[in-house]
Amino acid sequence: MRVGLHDAERDYLKHKRFPNYALMKISAYHKARGDSVEWWDPITSHTFDLIYSSKIFDFTPENPYLPPSAIRGGTGYPDIPINQTLPPEIDAAFPDYSIYPECDYAIGYITRGCPNRCPWCVVPAKEGGIKPYRAWEQIVRPDTKKLVLMDNNILASEYGILQLESLIGTGYEIDLNQGMDARLVTDRIAGILARLKWIRFIRFSCDQIPQIEAIERAAELLEGYGKKPYNLFIYLLVTKDVENAAYRVERLKRLKGISIYAQAERNDRKGIIPKALQKEFAQRFVYGRCYLKESWEEYLTRHKEKRLQNEKVSTREEARQLAMKRLRQKNKSEYKASFTLTGDTRLVAGVTVEVSGYGAFDGKYIIETATHSVSKSGGYKTDITLRRVLEGY
Ligand code: SF4
Repeated sequence: MRVGLHDAERDYLKHKRFPNYALMKISAYHKARGDSVEWWDPITSHTFDLIYSSKIFDFTPENPYLPPSAIRGGTGYPDIPINQTLPPEIDAAFPDYSIYPECDYAIGYITRGCPNRCPWCVVPAKEGGIKPYRAWEQIVRPDTKKLVLMDNNILASEYGILQLESLIGTGYEIDLNQGMDARLVTDRIAGILARLKWIRFIRFSCDQIPQIEAIERAAELLEGYGKKPYNLFIYLLVTKDVENAAYRVERLKRLKGISIYAQAERNDRKGIIPKALQKEFAQRFVYGRCYLKESWEEYLTRHKEKRLQNEKVSTREEARQLAMKRLRQKNKSEYKASFTLTGDTRLVAGVTVEVSGYGAFDGKYIIETATHSVSKSGGYKTDITLRRVLEGY
C-alpha cells in the first residue's frame, strides 16, 4: 500500500523545524506493516492508497487539494472533535524520525492532560485530567542525548516529577517546551529542575497576573540552586486585555536576563481571533525586543508620534484644537500606579478611588485593570493598576 502524509504546518511555515509527532507514529506503523510511506503532494495525489493530514494550529490554512477521503487530524482542524486520538496500535509505535531528518532530538510525553481548566486552553477538553503516559526510557533515541518533552503540566503529576528526577545524571539534555506552572515549584522541585541538564531554557507560563509572584518565587528558589534568571523563558498569553499583558511584561523584565515570548490568544473553535493591537504587542513589542528598552505605553506613544508627524490641519483653530487634544492624551498617562491589596470585590475597572499618603502623587485615580485571585498561601487578593484622573490639561 502507498501511504501519503501531509503536514499542514510544514507546507505553510517555511522555516518550521518542529516535527509532527502523530505523523511520525503513523509513518512508523505503516512501515512496520510493509507499506511505502511518502510525503503527499497534490500532483501525484491519485497515486496514494491512503492519505493522512495533520494540522496543529488554527491559523494554518487548509490545503484545498486534499481529497475528501484523506484522514485528517489535529487541533487545527476546527471540525474534528477536539478529543480525537490516534488508534492505540498507532499510538504505541515508536516515532519514525527519518521523515524529519533535520530533527536531532527525541520528542514525546511523560504525562498527558492537566488537572486545571483554564478557559483559554484546549488541553483539558483534548486530553482530560493528568495521567502517566510513558517513561523517559521509552522516548529517548539511541543516536542523540537531546530529549524534548511536550507535557502540558508535568509538575502537577508526582509521576512526572519522579521521572524528571530520574533523568538527573543520565547525560540527557531536556527541554519542556510547553512551559511549566511556576505555582507548583517548591524547594524540592526547584532542586530537581536545577540539577537537570537543559538544552537551553527552563520554561514557565505567565498567562495571568497572579502567576507573576509564583515566577518570581520560583526564580528565587532556582537562583538558590545556582540557576540565574537568564536561564528562564516565559510564555505570555496576550488576551484582548493588552494592558494586562503589558503589566506582566513590566514585572517580569525586572528578573535580569529573562526571555519572554508573547502569543496573541486565538481559538477558532470559540471564535476568538486576535486583534491587530494584540498582534502588534506580541510580534513587534515583545518578539521585536522593544520591551527591553521601553514600556508598552512608551512604545505606543513613540509610534503615535510618528503617525502624528503626518497629521494635517488647515486653520490656526484646527491646529490649536489638535495640539490640546494631543496634550491631553499625553498627560492622561502621566501618573500611573499599581497596588496589591487585600481582596475587595468593589475594586473593578472604571471605578475611581482617592489615593492619599504619597505627597505630590495624591489625588483621584481611575482603576484601569483589576484582577481578583484566591490562593491557599495568600488568601483573597486584588491587583489593581490605576491612572490619575485629569483636571484641565
Ligand atoms: S494549567 Fe496549562 S495546560 Fe493546564 S489548563 Fe491551564 S493552560 Fe492548559
